[in-house]
Amino acid sequence: MRSDEVRQMDSAEQGMGGVAPSAAELVLREREAQLRAILDTVPDAMIVIDAAGLIDSFSSAAEALFGYKAAEIKGHNVNQLMPSPYREQHNDYLARYQRTGERRIIGSSRVVIGLRRDGSTFPMELYIGEMQLRGRPAFTGFVRDLTEKQETQARLHELQAEVAHMSRFTAMGEMASTLAHELNQPLTAVVTYLNGCRRLLERGAGDNAMLQDGIERAAEQALRAGQIIRRLREFVARGETARQTENLPKLIEEAGALALIGARETGVRVNFSFHPDCACVMADKVQVQQVLLNLIRNGMEAMERSERRDMTIATAPAGQELVRVSVSDTGEGIAPHIRADLFQPFVTSKPHGMGVGLSVSRTIIEAHGGRLWAEPNAGGGTLFCFTLPAMPCGNNE
Ligand code: ADP
Repeated sequence: MRSDEVRQMDSAEQGMGGVAPSAAELVLREREAQLRAILDTVPDAMIVIDAAGLIDSFSSAAEALFGYKAAEIKGHNVNQLMPSPYREQHNDYLARYQRTGERRIIGSSRVVIGLRRDGSTFPMELYIGEMQLRGRPAFTGFVRDLTEKQETQARLHELQAEVAHMSRFTAMGEMASTLAHELNQPLTAVVTYLNGCRRLLERGAGDNAMLQDGIERAAEQALRAGQIIRRLREFVARGETARQTENLPKLIEEAGALALIGARETGVRVNFSFHPDCACVMADKVQVQQVLLNLIRNGMEAMERSERRDMTIATAPAGQELVRVSVSDTGEGIAPHIRADLFQPFVTSKPHGMGVGLSVSRTIIEAHGGRLWAEPNAGGGTLFCFTLPAMPCGNNE
């Protein structure tokens, strides 16, 4: 309850003949004054909603974060602060909770995407608690802006530890460049041995033993090169792939929020479009999130110089028992000189790029039995698509 309401209550009471407030009323007033002070000073954005999702309180920090004044947003549905499709789903979530009492998000925190008044989206950490407000059930949401510079680094490290995303990604990049150097040695040796053999043949020396030796050594080196490549693949797939039925929208939303963390304020609008028939896939969540992170980050970088910065992450059924996930941007498109080799390792157009993201992503998706490809986006920019095996959701939704 905000100060204006309390003030109204005060004058209403005084209007009733100025009767001295009872002890219970005094306690109530004191509590409300406390709540008011909390709302004005709490550093995290705090939003209280009623059981129908209507906003009851909106702290000063929430005003700064979402761009709405408390007075104008109070009484509106909290789903106004969420991008689609969460906006449309939120009332159903609340209704289901009332019906079943089953807690999905209450009492825990998760990383989600918020929508500001100006239409821009941002990553946020949301903690929801349940309480009673004037004798009725209500929910308190604490929102932490993950784009905020000071907080970001510390929180980022925590998140990395939780899902081990980025650190493994960087490690993969470093490993790939080491392996590139390692690969050079056996390949150079293969060429040297084969050249030697060719010279023997040209001279017609007829020394079969030397020829045989040269060819054997070349073959050994070729096998060594193969082993090095296998090591990279194993590192990517890690033998420990934990493929299971995963809720695809949840997996995507989390990856989207993670990709936006630490990115400077780019003004990118991220839209989600989830097909109702594509709720679950068979996937190693961490690996597929790595792919999404890479595609989203690439898309955001491609839009740095664009006027329109719209990203859409969509799901759709794709033929028999497959789901297609697409990430589209309105960026500059794929540079013509790298188009043909886009998915080859070490192909990059960026001064500090590693050029391994797309090749690793393709390996991951193919290991899942899917495909990863790029096409021009209809409205300009690029559309990256990949497929994954569709699954019935069962109880794992
Ligand atoms: P890196 O990002 O380190 O260069 P990647 O393998 O992820 O490595 O990408 C390779 C190259 O593909 C990039 O350097 C860029 O030229 C191109 N690319 C990838 N995604 C996009 C995109 N969404 N729009 C335009 N170009 C892209």
